[in-house]
Amino acid sequence: MAKVITIGEILVEIMTKYTGQEFTSPGELLGPYPSGAPAIFIDQVARMGVEAGIIARVGDDDFGLLNLTRLRDDGVDTSHIYKTKGYTTGTAFVTYYANGERKFIFHFPHAAAGQLGPADVDENYIKTAEYLHVVGCSLTASASLRQAIWKAVKIAKENKVKVSFDPNLRPELLNEQEIKNVYDEILDAADIILAGKSEMIALSGEGDLVKGIARLKKRDGTMLVLKDGARGASLYYGEECYHVPPVKVQEVDPTGAGDCFDGAFIAALACGKGLKEALQIANVAGALSVTRKGPMEGAAFKEDILALYSRHNSSKV
Ligand code: ATP
Repeated sequence: MAKVITIGEILVEIMTKYTGQEFTSPGELLGPYPSGAPAIFIDQVARMGVEAGIIARVGDDDFGLLNLTRLRDDGVDTSHIYKTKGYTTGTAFVTYYANGERKFIFHFPHAAAGQLGPADVDENYIKTAEYLHVVGCSLTASASLRQAIWKAVKIAKENKVKVSFDPNLRPELLNEQEIKNVYDEILDAADIILAGKSEMIALSGEGDLVKGIARLKKRDGTMLVLKDGARGASLYYGEECYHVPPVKVQEVDPTGAGDCFDGAFIAALACGKGLKEALQIANVAGALSVTRKGPMEGAAFKEDILALYSRHNSSKV
């Protein structure tokens, strides 16, 4: 049994060695790294010492084994990860540009990850959890994965399991109208929305952040957490509003920061931390995650997160 569960894609990531390196010609690549937004999230939850589990599919291949070994070693319950014959583990190729932008080539709707379906969702597994985390890019991958996630969300709502949602918009996977169609329902169902600043604007349907926050806050009881990269993060819940300044770090690789942030935040809540403290802990986890190359490599252990958290907060007194 796990306190925190997620459902979605497990992938490997392969990245270009150099900034600005295009995939239109041969070049040096790094990886494979364990990846997939839900997988990164759940690895961070486990590294925070909280019981964690994931419902997913991998291929019966070395990329799948790489992920299974990593997650298992970190304490994630892998009993609901299914090996899928006839499909390979999904992949994501990423290249970075000097202005901080990234470009992805995903292969997962037609890989093992995209084959997860409603029959894979074990009602009892979800019922006994405290949190179910959903990531937007999983919803956009394939119809069967989307149906599996909807089944999981429905079970969660019927059993008072809190649903957290990270939109994680990837324009490579769906266009704007398709995103809106798919996202409206999950935004209604979510108890906690953890979004990037530009995502918040896009999802609210308002052209600016303040109006966007006001609009999304109207959904009664929804907690909004706004991630803002190297500028820190904010939280809005009812009348409560907190902002945390960034922790100063040397950024090496930004991919996965949002998922590590989400994982540390939900893990902190699952441990009974207050909202402000959970936000501060997540802010530290997000900062630590960008200091290592590889999307899941940045998931830090609880001791390191709490040590930096204490130093960061005492330096402000
Ligand atoms: P991704 O989609 O790549 O997972 P995201 O857009 O969801 O990322 P970010 O806003 O990039 O998430 O990062 C999440 C959090 O991590 C930030 O709100 C902040 O707390 C922390 N963080 C990210 N980048 C930095 C940085 N360069 N310096 C300090 N903290 C950072």
